[in-house]
Amino acid sequence: MQPSVSIKDLSLNFGNVKVLENLNLDIAQGEFIVLLGPSGCGKSTLLNCIAGLLEVSDGQIFINGKNVTWEEPKDRGIGMVFQSYALYPQMSVEKNLSFGLRVAGMKKEEINQRVKRAAEILQIEPLLQRKPANLSGGQRQRVAIGRALVRDVDVFLFDEPLSNLDAKLRSDLRVEIKRLHARLKNTMIYVTHDQIEALTLADRIAIMKNGVIQQLADPHTIYNKPVNLYVAGFIGSPS
Ligand code: ADP
Ligand code: MG
Repeated sequence: MQPSVSIKDLSLNFGNVKVLENLNLDIAQGEFIVLLGPSGCGKSTLLNCIAGLLEVSDGQIFINGKNVTWEEPKDRGIGMVFQSYALYPQMSVEKNLSFGLRVAGMKKEEINQRVKRAAEILQIEPLLQRKPANLSGGQRQRVAIGRALVRDVDVFLFDEPLSNLDAKLRSDLRVEIKRLHARLKNTMIYVTHDQIEALTLADRIAIMKNGVIQQLADPHTIYNKPVNLYVAGFIGSPS
């Protein structure tokens, strides 16, 4: 089957600093991939390249077989959820969810249907008329996920979506994101520096160091058979 996302020989430099170097990664349809590594290793940069928010220095990105390397972010069939919620503070939750669809010229009935479905899936129906300022961190992050959900995208990109939340909420939302993936079955690429998040969410984990993937494998293999000391030190068993 054609990969959902295919990254070929991707490099990205900021000035003369190489942040990603000749990176290759094939992600299957419906796969939950976690990009795991310490701060500064290039996780967000890779995600932003896939999203089209950064221009690559070299290489190509394919989504569903189509070369999107030079496509606008809105034409890539992706939805992105950031650590900071990036909600419009002056708009109600309902307007935050529908705004992108209205701008795209979608019919009102279709918009209402999609907002209703997303609100139901994320259990935020009672919050639709509130403003972001009157929501908790967890509720805001649900709305941020909802904004990707209403667009009916093929690929979800998450950049440390739970980092701003306290431990209890983090574990609740982790369960919820897993449930969301089980229900939607779309491709998810999830960036974190949290080992527990990676081990509990991922079908496969890509461990990154200095813009290079050190190991790409399922959580069990990563944990029990780390390929080198770096991976072992970061996540593997102590033996
Ligand atoms: P991570 O998400 O893994 O913490 P990033 O992808 O944000 O890492 O950053 C990778 C490296 O690129 C870091 O060394 C960071 O300082 C650098 N970097 C990120 N964004 C920029 C930028 N806009 N200009 C210059 N350097 C940047
Ligand atoms: Mg980052």
